[in-house]
Amino acid sequence: MTYIYKQYINGEWVEASNGGTWEVINPATEEVVQTVPYGTADDANAAIEAAARAFPEWANQTAYKRAAILKKASDIMRSRLDELARTTTLECGKPLSQSRGEWFTAADLFEWFAEECKRVYGRTIPSRVPRKRMTVIKQPIGVVGVITAWNFPAYNTARAWAAALAAGCTVVAKPAEDTPLTAMEMTNILVEAGIPTGVMNLINGEPAPIGQAMLDHPDCRKISFTGSTEVGRILMEGSARTFTRLGLELGGNAPVIVFPDADIARVAKGAVSTKYWNAGQACTGPQRFMVQESALQQFIDTVVPAVEALKVGNGLESDVAVGPIINERQRGRIESLVMEGVAHGATVLTGGSRPAGMDKGFFYQPTVVTNVALDQRLYHEEIFGPVMPITTFNDVDEAIYMANQTPYGLAAYVWTNDLNTAIKAYEGLEFGLVGVNEWYPQATEAPFVGWKASGLGAEAGAEGLEDYLETKLVSIGNIR
Ligand code: ADP
Repeated sequence: MTYIYKQYINGEWVEASNGGTWEVINPATEEVVQTVPYGTADDANAAIEAAARAFPEWANQTAYKRAAILKKASDIMRSRLDELARTTTLECGKPLSQSRGEWFTAADLFEWFAEECKRVYGRTIPSRVPRKRMTVIKQPIGVVGVITAWNFPAYNTARAWAAALAAGCTVVAKPAEDTPLTAMEMTNILVEAGIPTGVMNLINGEPAPIGQAMLDHPDCRKISFTGSTEVGRILMEGSARTFTRLGLELGGNAPVIVFPDADIARVAKGAVSTKYWNAGQACTGPQRFMVQESALQQFIDTVVPAVEALKVGNGLESDVAVGPIINERQRGRIESLVMEGVAHGATVLTGGSRPAGMDKGFFYQPTVVTNVALDQRLYHEEIFGPVMPITTFNDVDEAIYMANQTPYGLAAYVWTNDLNTAIKAYEGLEFGLVGVNEWYPQATEAPFVGWKASGLGAEAGAEGLEDYLETKLVSIGNIR
């Protein structure tokens, strides 16, 4: 299939209005994959206006008609997983199997929201006043600006686009500058599936002016944002002026609490697969490993050789487990976190540097660190890289206390075979996604929610659709 790698505004593939371009870099080779348009606020405004014109017809379309287009897009994705995965790996570096899995889930999201939008029910409320009827209906919010991150370029985008489009909203999407190609291919697929003119728009360009344009334009009614807590804060401050609705999926600093009654060797092996998935660049990814003191040595003894066995390299190679970091800036940040931690007494058990002999590509060795002081950035900041800091605790109360000592509240993990410990832990943890004896507390059909500084609102699941709808009370009085 031949894809077009441009902006898509008002049903046309276009260059940037200011002629700007951007080179998409393969983080495994540092070579240019594609040159794409790189626009600014003017492109955002043109796209918002196209989306606003398309909104009434799309919103009033039956859910069944919208669903048919989204389902068709989902079928196309499933039929082309290999070629789509290749593009995602080329621009963000993750192993091909992980890119394929991401596109598979993207297809699931389009299919599931296509089904779910047929069930946007209202309700009637019995009135306390005679000759009056009250009905609650749900209507799509309007034009939604969708700003997404580079770490899951297919999943992040599909989660927001599918829900918004299914709800009857029209979309102006801005992918992350490092990974626009995946979003462009997804747009090609929606066009092929028959999305009407103006319903889906894709822009690519300068983040701050585009975000500001989305906030300022009165027709852009919601911004769905996946990215850093800092940018989430900028959008919240902006929306305090404009009342633009916000859906925010921000950073995390996930605790993993390992109790000694768990099968420690099994947990340690699972910890390695999960921690280094996507080179640790996942907001739900396990970060602060808290192992009960009596289990620490066994945990370390299993983790370290398993980490050393992970092959680092270009995600296109079949046996590679850990790809590169997305860009030089992110790798530099990870390096400084580790160096600073070591300067304050942390011990590197394995890794802790760039892999030897790999001069090209933004690689960083899978790393395990102990003796991390709790005031270190390595412990309390989101690492977003292949580094596992391990600390210890004594009892369940201390573990819950330590786990909650963070502004973040996205994912948390608990490993125990004791039911009382599990219940006490999951009830006490101030996080939106808690995995008890599992590493994947998320699903297309379940809400993805961040507490505290990790987010606002929900994506995925029935709650995810709800967040693209407004509630309206229709009250009919004086009925004769
Ligand atoms: P990261 O540090 O992980 O790249 P960001 O929050 O900077 O996370 O990026 C997530 C998304 O937010 C990207 O699409 C990026 O272009 C966009 N972005 C960055 N700064 C702004 C901003 N000021 N306003 C709106 N979007 C922004």
